[in-house]
Amino acid sequence: MQKFLSRCKKQVWKLVASLCFYSPILRWMNRFSNYFQFRKESRFAFPFIKKRQFRNFQILVYHRVNNEYDPFFPAVPTEVFERQMEYLATHFHVCSLENVIEMAKKKDIPDNTVVITFDDGYKDNYWNAFPILKKLSLPATIFLATDCIGSGKVLWHDVVFSAFRETQEPFLVGYGINLKDYPLRTIEEKRFAHGQVLNFLRALEDHERPFWIQRLVEKLKVIGKKDAADLMLNWEEVRIMQQQGISFGSHTVTHPILSRLPADKVREEVLKSKKTIEEQLGVPVRTFAYPSGRKQDFTEITKNILKEAGYDCAVTMVFGTNEYDQDLFELRRGMPWENHLPTFAVKLSWYKLYPN
Ligand SMILES: [Zn+2]
Repeated sequence: MQKFLSRCKKQVWKLVASLCFYSPILRWMNRFSNYFQFRKESRFAFPFIKKRQFRNFQILVYHRVNNEYDPFFPAVPTEVFERQMEYLATHFHVCSLENVIEMAKKKDIPDNTVVITFDDGYKDNYWNAFPILKKLSLPATIFLATDCIGSGKVLWHDVVFSAFRETQEPFLVGYGINLKDYPLRTIEEKRFAHGQVLNFLRALEDHERPFWIQRLVEKLKVIGKKDAADLMLNWEEVRIMQQQGISFGSHTVTHPILSRLPADKVREEVLKSKKTIEEQLGVPVRTFAYPSGRKQDFTEITKNILKEAGYDCAVTMVFGTNEYDQDLFELRRGMPWENHLPTFAVKLSWYKLYPN
């Protein structure tokens, strides 16, 4: 019954989104949201709309673009990505992150400004996303975790995704500090367990994580099962994209949770990754994306280290849009990962209205 109701709700929402999309409503909504937004003090405060003080800009975050339909790390299907980019190219002002930072400093940002970013450095960014971006002449920034670029290594969270994807075990028994048991008999049970395990691993100190990941692959009996050597970009692909309008920022070397690291390790991660990309591409690297990127994944110390290292800005995974007065080392991003184009379009406009 619950599934039926949620499916009905989705259909109604799609219908409303389509109605807005195929009529002038969306255009009005967009224009309106450039000047007004909901008050953040309280959802029920009256009047609940206030005049926007400054123009805002949105930063979209993508990870993978492919048609693999991986239930553990959902990607945006290539065709869907293409339709989204065509919509942005027609209705939005798509800017590079570097340009937007300059414009924000001068307090001069055009209406409907959007920045496209990708985290981690997956190979499908080159094979699937880049041809579309190139065709539409859209700039984008890809944040690289440099240890995995051209090395055959994968990020720690990909080891976890792959373990849950590959395992034939019906249960994960006695895992974690609290020795929890998780059933893995259906895809839903696997997804639930994988979410819980990811939260557990993220909360660990950085040096403790490899032990628990090893423990996980042993318990799920997936050691050596998956050859993921071709999951991440190599430097040749990075260089080709750079020559054709894509910029690159740092996402650290090994993708640790920076707030869980001592300051000297954070310094090493942000300096070494910056230096590697600069040596490979011959241009300065001034943009950064926090691994995991939630509010608890970076601190004031992290931000100061980034400033000392010569970065101009850092993007988070904290939801919202950005105004001129937004801390450039806490830039918010949005994830309109909707396969239905009208819903994607309505969400983009809705994000601007929604209080940060
Ligand atoms: Zn990442």
